[in-house]
Amino acid sequence: MARIVQKFGGTSVANVERIRAVALRVKAEVDAGNQVAVVPSAMAGETNRLVELVTSVSKLYDAREYDTIVSTGEQVTVGLLALALQDIGIQARSWLGWQIPIHTNGVHGKARIESIDIEEIEKRLERGEVLVVPGFQGLGPDNRITTLGRGGSDTSAVALAAALKADRCDIYTDVDGVYTTDPRITPKARKLDKITYEEMLEMASVGAKVLQTRSVELAMKHGVRVQVLSSYTDEPGTLVVDEDEIVEQELVSGIAYSRDEAKITLVSVPDQPGIAAAIFGPLADNGINVDMIVQNISHDNNATDLTFTLPMADLERAIATLEGKRGELNFADIRADKNVAKISVIGVGMRSHAGVAQRMFTTLAEKGINIQVISTSEIKVSVLIAEEYTELAVRALHTAYGLDAD
Ligand code: ADP
Ligand code: ASP
Ligand code: MG
Repeated sequence: MARIVQKFGGTSVANVERIRAVALRVKAEVDAGNQVAVVPSAMAGETNRLVELVTSVSKLYDAREYDTIVSTGEQVTVGLLALALQDIGIQARSWLGWQIPIHTNGVHGKARIESIDIEEIEKRLERGEVLVVPGFQGLGPDNRITTLGRGGSDTSAVALAAALKADRCDIYTDVDGVYTTDPRITPKARKLDKITYEEMLEMASVGAKVLQTRSVELAMKHGVRVQVLSSYTDEPGTLVVDEDEIVEQELVSGIAYSRDEAKITLVSVPDQPGIAAAIFGPLADNGINVDMIVQNISHDNNATDLTFTLPMADLERAIATLEGKRGELNFADIRADKNVAKISVIGVGMRSHAGVAQRMFTTLAEKGINIQVISTSEIKVSVLIAEEYTELAVRALHTAYGLDAD
């Protein structure tokens, strides 16, 4: 007997028929004698619809009300899934994040799970009851509903698996595993049987939304055995594992892209100590994470342009924050650009091999694609380019690093 957490993404619970299919997958595990907790997302498209409702009423919305609204998608699917399970004779009940509770910090809109009270739910698991737990939501220290950031149901599932010391956490989605790049961008993408936690973490953090970044962090920290697989087929998926479980390591394991980026340039910022702190401090205080940053040395010693990227969803808020500090920061202008994409090449092999970045730059140059910003980490190189070249860049790099399927 094993203890299993199964997570089903939006397309896997998109309608009643799909929810019944999910119920059958849960039943198969129960029939095999396993204890099961199941974590559904909202129905496909539902969270987007709820976010649009929020922004149609208020552009600079109160994040606590945002959470109250966008968390409701998962409330519907836990109820429906519990009903579908009961309908096929499985003892099951739905929970809400606050009923368990799943405690998070107070950063509404992108809260982090801090702990999960498992006493009651563990008792019920042991009695053979299936737990139907909503993804994406928790309870903040202010006693209000929080959400975990887009794609956060992956994190709910992994956190629950860690708290319950589950033997497996199966992430069912609409692709049958983790690929060398998004299979929707190129048919030449190759499915990986295994990927290291570290590479998966980098891939997720630069935009491969197949797993939410935080879920991979938690899996790595708690040694949760995560498998990504399809809810449509019975093919084996991709296992996320420690580095020593992979025998032959590729130099580059994947290419990722993100179109959810925006670029801000502050024109003519005073070139003096403390200016970066004065700009990024207030953004951080407003929960805005900036990503790539470039600043030049000023030619005339007193002013320079500063460019950085941030999530598109935070753009309006960031501009409002910086405009509010205009007197203090003394910049001449703010320029925002939504027409950008970040393309990244990831691989643990980069640690020991030179020339990976060079191949990236040459490949993009051959396609006439201009690089606006560059950033690197030990196992990743990222560049910012104009959004319209996203597919071209990903496909060209996939070929250039020898990743194409035969
Ligand atoms: P879910 O609703 O199940 O959580 P998501 O849409 O969040 O599904 O994540 C699955 C999607 O991730 C796939 O449909 C695919 O387009 C995308 N994706 C991006 N990069 C990759 C990758 N390297 N491997 C597999 N899927 C990827
Ligand atoms: N429903 C949420 C979203 O769309 C969480 C998730 O699907 O993981 O972002
Ligand atoms: Mg997802």
